[in-house]
Amino acid sequence: MIDAQGLTRRYGEFTAVDGISFTVDEGEIVGMLGPNGAGKTTTLRMITGFLPPTDGHLTVGGRDLFSDPVAARREVGYLPENVALYTEMRVSEYLRYRAMLEGLSRAKAGPRISETVKSCFLEEVEHQIIGTLSKGFRQRVGLAAAILHHPSVLVLDEPTVGLDPKQIIAIRELIRELGHKQTLLLSSHILPEVELLCDRVIIIDRGRIVAEGSPQDLQESWVGNTILRVELKGAPAEAPDVLRDLPGVVAVETLAGDPGCYRLECTKEADPRQAVFEAAKQRDWVVLELVREQASLEDIFVRLTTQEPGASPGLGEVFSAPQEEVPS
Ligand code: ATP
Repeated sequence: MIDAQGLTRRYGEFTAVDGISFTVDEGEIVGMLGPNGAGKTTTLRMITGFLPPTDGHLTVGGRDLFSDPVAARREVGYLPENVALYTEMRVSEYLRYRAMLEGLSRAKAGPRISETVKSCFLEEVEHQIIGTLSKGFRQRVGLAAAILHHPSVLVLDEPTVGLDPKQIIAIRELIRELGHKQTLLLSSHILPEVELLCDRVIIIDRGRIVAEGSPQDLQESWVGNTILRVELKGAPAEAPDVLRDLPGVVAVETLAGDPGCYRLECTKEADPRQAVFEAAKQRDWVVLELVREQASLEDIFVRLTTQEPGASPGLGEVFSAPQEEVPS
């Protein structure tokens, strides 16, 4: 498992990671989400022993990264954001070299390389020079090198970046499989990917954790008031007033640039869809759309990471920021 407590990294005066605490259990896939510069890579680099933390406590696979750094690093497989490979080597040579670095015996290395080549779908390029591989294949070689020694903890920084859709599906399947056996922490910008792959999500912004939970938990805790989206043909002039007067409706927003489209904020328990329909029927309005919205992980992400420091939460939102407050 990974256990980070008060993990901090400063670059001179600038604090890139500001005392974050989290754990990732065995068999769990956790996704770290955050906008550019949030501190994801810095966090992953500290966990993998590539960057010393300025402060905090960190154990990886049960080993303390400060008092037992060599053993701790052996527990970890790391796929960095930009995979550095020896481009003049063949894939098989490179994997053999990495196996040697990880201390695998010759007897163990052979079968382990074959197994990894297969699981990372590298058979067709096994004897090819790395410099001649496409970006997707290089990414897979990087992943193969990261899992070769069967680390108990796997850290993947943007694992599907630059891959084509078919490769993305294959790598996601592999990640899912690996995640059931290992502790897996990944960072991604692709929200649907995190939603699909991860048991738990950590949203990080300006070096701090702003929300944490399963994608479902985040959605449930985020959803405050119900939102209805209504589209009426011809944008009747009195529509905003009529809609506002319906029971359970708190506010009506006319969507800019979309005549006839309204966003209705309703109380949490209210479901005024039938009332909207009947009001429209009475007035001969044509309802083109009537949808109850659920906050997506994307809504949550945008809301949490674009909030001005110190700003109060918006539209009926209730979310859990388990350890820290939004930076002020
Ligand atoms: P991205 O999604 O763009 O990769 P990230 O969340 O991974 O972003 P980091 O790369 O961890 O963000 O960077 C966090 C902050 O720390 C950024 O503001 C970055 O400019 C700064 N930073 C990173 N490395 C250094 C460094 N060596 N010296 C100074 N500042 C740095």
